[in-house]
Amino acid sequence: MSATAAITTRHDWSLAEVRALFEQPFNDLLFQAQSVHRQHFDANRVQVSTLLSIKTGACPEDCKYCPQSGHYNTGLDKEKLMEVQKVLEAAAEAKAIGSTRFCMGAAWKHPSVKDMPYVLEMVKGVKKLGLETCMTLGRLDQEQTQALAEAGLDYYNHNLDTSPEFYGNIITTRTYGERLQTLAYVREAGMKICSGGILGMGESVDDRAGLLIQLANLPEHPESVPINMLVKVKGTPLAEEKDVDPFDFIRTLAVARIMMPRSHVRLSAGREAMNEQMQALAFMAGANSIFYGEKLLTTANPQADKDMALFKRLGIKPEEREEHADEVHQAAIEQALVEQRDSKLFYNAASA
Ligand code: SF4
Repeated sequence: MSATAAITTRHDWSLAEVRALFEQPFNDLLFQAQSVHRQHFDANRVQVSTLLSIKTGACPEDCKYCPQSGHYNTGLDKEKLMEVQKVLEAAAEAKAIGSTRFCMGAAWKHPSVKDMPYVLEMVKGVKKLGLETCMTLGRLDQEQTQALAEAGLDYYNHNLDTSPEFYGNIITTRTYGERLQTLAYVREAGMKICSGGILGMGESVDDRAGLLIQLANLPEHPESVPINMLVKVKGTPLAEEKDVDPFDFIRTLAVARIMMPRSHVRLSAGREAMNEQMQALAFMAGANSIFYGEKLLTTANPQADKDMALFKRLGIKPEEREEHADEVHQAAIEQALVEQRDSKLFYNAASA
């Protein structure tokens, strides 16, 4: 397939077509992905989000990769829902170090009636700070989705994780259909979708293709597509899984870029294990979003200043919320980074 043939936004991908994308020589695939990327984005801008756990651990779901599941003993410190004020302080700090989006994650099956008012206050408060808001709270019903939209939530994160065929090997307490239903409610309520998956759980290339087909064949592509590399946490059933070949990981990013040309493809969990060369290849493959801060969910994330140093070496600038960034703002971010270097800012964020 030529680079130009791939730039149309499609919703009818077949497994054979996606397999063919994966099977291309690496250089051809990367060239095609980078060509598609440049049709829709500034290739030297990367969107920067910060993720905060607003409620950590003791999750009733049994996702085999997750240290927050109450089904596994990972020694994680459990935390109740954070106070609204503390969340807003963390959001203000995230803004100071250059994040444009603040993602709040709670390890829940679904939000409870008791917790919803606090969650809505968090959305309103973060929004007032001038940040885009994103939440991941588990399954939502229609009423909750509507309330979040009315509070001003911009994005809802709900990952499909893997292909429908492989899904049962990883999670048994929530169905694939329930996940798709939550995504449908989010769309109906007019919010943007953040949805992706995880590589390295023992899935086949067809499962990676199957996940991307599910996402790309939704009526509208998710605006944000996080591609995670499994972080193997002791105590979870996937702690001893084989490493993903780094080139296979990059291939998946490239195929995601080609299939969802207008989406932000996010290099997400697992970035700590990637060297700078691999991250640079990921940006070349069309990844244009990262999580940024000391911790991602409950696992380590490269330090924010290390990220900025890499951006500088690669000539990449953080994407601004409104594309009128200037050198003054860039300098302010760099200054804030220096000040933050030794701070105890704690992003032990959760996912659902
Ligand atoms: S991934 Fe989310 S839903 Fe699954 S166990 Fe972890 S916190 Fe719970």
